[in-house]
Amino acid sequence: MRSNEEKTSDPSLEIITYGNPILRKRAAEIKNITQDIKEIAKKMIHTMHTAPGIGLAAPQINHSIRLITVDLSAGENKEDLIILVNPRIITQDGNHEEAEEGCLSVPGINEKVARSSHLQCVGYDLNENEKKIHAEGLLARVISHELDHLNGKLFIDYLSPLKKSIIKKKLKKK
Ligand code: ZN
Repeated sequence: MRSNEEKTSDPSLEIITYGNPILRKRAAEIKNITQDIKEIAKKMIHTMHTAPGIGLAAPQINHSIRLITVDLSAGENKEDLIILVNPRIITQDGNHEEAEEGCLSVPGINEKVARSSHLQCVGYDLNENEKKIHAEGLLARVISHELDHLNGKLFIDYLSPLKKSIIKKKLKKK
């Protein structure tokens, strides 16, 4: 997910944008956390922090695998960095909260999306240890947004057909 800070540009850290079919694919389960997977995670963190963003999913840097990175501090606080392999939501409440969202893959678009205010999610860290996260508020929103990416879903899919068609036209012009 996009952060509100100004964007810096580094061509080596290219982010896949709307229209590329990889963003619509269901990403593959990771069977082994190999050195390659660790390298991809490292690149994701660097890309996320440089953008700057507060969350990124592997398909956004052209790897269709189930891996997400989240950092609400956008690189300010090491403890805030979350790396999750094969994440899945185990519970989420029906208490939906609306807030504005953006996405590094849908540049220039910010729209209100309703999502669960609390969720529990489970996955693995890069050392293959199970990791359970109880998230609320913005963290729950970002995790849910990034998990959607692994299932080929984008935040604009939550909008009304009318709003979505206006946005699609806007994105095509770019
Ligand atoms: Zn996104």
